[in-house]
Amino acid sequence: MLFEKLNLIEPIQRALKTEGYTKATPIQAQAIPSLLEGHDLLGCAQTGTGKTAAFAIPILQSLSFEQRSTPGRKQIKSLVVAPTRELAIQIRDSFVAYGRNTGLKTAVIYGGVPQNPQRRELEKGVDILVATPGRLLDLINQKIVSIKHIKHFVLDEADQMLDMGMLRDVRKIITYIPNDRQTIFFSATMPAEIEKLSSSILKNPVKVVV
Ligand code: AMP
Repeated sequence: MLFEKLNLIEPIQRALKTEGYTKATPIQAQAIPSLLEGHDLLGCAQTGTGKTAAFAIPILQSLSFEQRSTPGRKQIKSLVVAPTRELAIQIRDSFVAYGRNTGLKTAVIYGGVPQNPQRRELEKGVDILVATPGRLLDLINQKIVSIKHIKHFVLDEADQMLDMGMLRDVRKIITYIPNDRQTIFFSATMPAEIEKLSSSILKNPVKVVV
């Protein structure tokens, strides 16, 4: 499906042109309209399917509208939690690329490196935060990050988080996010524990399998 048919705002369409994208991948064609309508989403998809743009584009579009109606100090409004530093950086790069004409700010935090540069970036004000679970919890506990204004919460590669022993941290993070939010849940496989987690945090999700 052509991106032109998806009712995207001009700054995002222009960014997708810059990226050289013309057609939405199947997961994008299925997920973007539902996410723009505000539904929760359960996606069963591997890397390489275009799943990052499937959630990044609607989040950027929704935040662009909000930005116009509530200018002022930036608070984190969208949170993406991913299992590894490499994936978190890739997701941040995607938000920066698709959001290049929106004025929205995206930051990434992950463990294994000093906290100070991440802390300084957060202090400047961020709309979208991409994070690995351990470092995120650490910065929440230090009151450097607040996720109490989150409107969009994405859990990416949930099955990897299970394999890496991260579900305890993830469950803790979820307790800090308001209930009134849009939740987007991606996993390549659906073992019982992931199924259970997804059904406990999603409300009437649209299901997409690719
Ligand atoms: P992902 O599955 O999100 O890791 O994306 C896989 C790769 O496909 C990334 O390098 C994206 O830049 C690229 N990609 C995503 N959506 C599209 C699209 N609609 N057209 C062309 N390339 C795309």
